Amino acid sequence: MGKPIRDSRAVDVPLAAECIAYYGEAIDKVYDEVAPTGPSDVVTLVREPLGVVGAVVPWNFPLLMASWKVGPALATGNSVVLKPAEQSPLTALRLAELAAEAGVPDGVLQVVPGFGETAGQALGRHMDVDLVAFTGSTEVGKLFLRYSGESNMKRLALECGGKSPHIVMQDCGDLDAAAEAAAWGVFYNQGEVCNAGSRLLVHESLKDELLERIVRVAETIRPGDPLDPETRMGAIVDRTQLERVLGYIDAGRDQGADLHLGGGQVLEESGGYFVEPTIFDAVSNEMRIAREEIFGPVLATIPFGDEEEAIEIANDTVYGLAAAVWTNDLSRAHRVSRALRAGVVWVNCFDRGDITAPFGGFKQSGFGRDKSIHALEKYTDLKTIWIAID
Ligand code: NAP
Ligand code: MG
Repeated sequence: MGKPIRDSRAVDVPLAAECIAYYGEAIDKVYDEVAPTGPSDVVTLVREPLGVVGAVVPWNFPLLMASWKVGPALATGNSVVLKPAEQSPLTALRLAELAAEAGVPDGVLQVVPGFGETAGQALGRHMDVDLVAFTGSTEVGKLFLRYSGESNMKRLALECGGKSPHIVMQDCGDLDAAAEAAAWGVFYNQGEVCNAGSRLLVHESLKDELLERIVRVAETIRPGDPLDPETRMGAIVDRTQLERVLGYIDAGRDQGADLHLGGGQVLEESGGYFVEPTIFDAVSNEMRIAREEIFGPVLATIPFGDEEEAIEIANDTVYGLAAAVWTNDLSRAHRVSRALRAGVVWVNCFDRGDITAPFGGFKQSGFGRDKSIHALEKYTDLKTIWIAID
C-alpha cells in the first residue's frame, strides 16, 4: 500500500506479532465473576464467545488492523472471517497461512478478499455473523449499522475516522519536541493514519516559531521509493486517494488558507503517487481541510488565544478519536485532557501507545476498543447463571 518497508519491518510486523502473542497469553488469566447475591443463591456471570466474527479492515495498516481484530476474537473462542481492503489483501492471506501452520483448525480463521460492496456487505448482512469488527471510514461504518439493523441485529465494533487536534499551549515546554511530534504526527505513513494530528492548534504567540521548526522537520521527510530501506515517507495508496488528497489541497487554497509548505504531487516520473509534506497556515476550523478527514500528509494550522478557545475548537468536530496537548502546567494537562472529547489524549507526546492501552473513538469515530484486555469484552456475550441453593 505504499508505506516504507522500514516501517513494515519495524512497526507493522512486530506489533502484529506482539498483539497475537498478547491475547494468546492473556486469555487464561481472565476470570469470570460471581455476583454478590444473598446466601440462598450462587450466581455466576460467564463470558461466552459470540460465534462468528466478521472482521473488515482498511489498507493503511493492513496486517496490524487485522491482528487487532483476529487476536482477541480468536482468543475468546470465536471463529473469524476476515475481509482485507481491496488494495492490501496479501498480508491477510499470509496471516491465514501462518495460522494454519501454527495449528489453528481449518475454518476457524478464513480470509475472504473482495470488494467492500460485495464481500464486505455480505458479511454485514449475513444472518450467521454475530459481530462485525470494522476499521475504516465513518461513512462505511454507518453502512454497517444499517446492514445490522436490516439483518440480524449483529453486534458492531466500529473504529472509524478522525480529525485529531494537536494542541500546543503557550506554556509548551519543549518546542522542538512538539515540532517533531507535530510533523511526524501528520506525515507518518503518508498521513494515512486514522488518528493523524491533522489539526495543529497553536497559541498565537508561538505560532510562527513553531511552524518554522515544523518546516525544518518536514524538510527532512522526503517521499521516496517505499522499498528503499532508507525511505521514511512512501507513496499514497492509489490514484483515487491521491486525487482526494490533491483535491483537499485545492480546497484549502480556494477557501483562503495560506499554503505554507509543499502542496504538490512529486516524483511523477516514477509512476508512483507521491505527495510532499504539506502545511497550511491561517486555517479556520470551518474550512473543509479542518473539518473533513483528508487521510494524506496535510497539516492545517489553526491559531487560538486561550485555553478555553483551544478546547472549543478541538471539540468542534464530528470525530473524537484522539487528541494531544503540549503544556508544562500539570493542572492544565489534567484539565484539558478531561475536557477533550476523544478516546485517547496524549500529553507532551503524540501517537504513543502499546498493546496494554485501549485504542478507539468517541462520537463519529466509532465505538468499541481495540488493544488491551478491554478489547476482549466485545467478542463475548455475558451470561447470568442463577443457581438456587435453597
Ligand atoms: P473504507 O473505504 O471505509 O474501507 C474500509 C473497509 O470497508 C475495506 O475493507 C472496504 O473494502 C470495506 N468497505 C468499503 N465499502 C464498503 C461497503 N459498501 N460495505 C461493506 N464494506 C465496505 O476505508 P479505507 O479507505 O480502507 O481506509 C481509510 C479510512 O479508514 C479512513 O477514514 C480512516 O480514518 C479509517 N481508519 C480508521 C482506523 C481506526 O482505528 N479508527 C484505522 C485505520 C483507518 P474495499 O475498500 O476493499 O472495497
Ligand atoms: Mg476502500
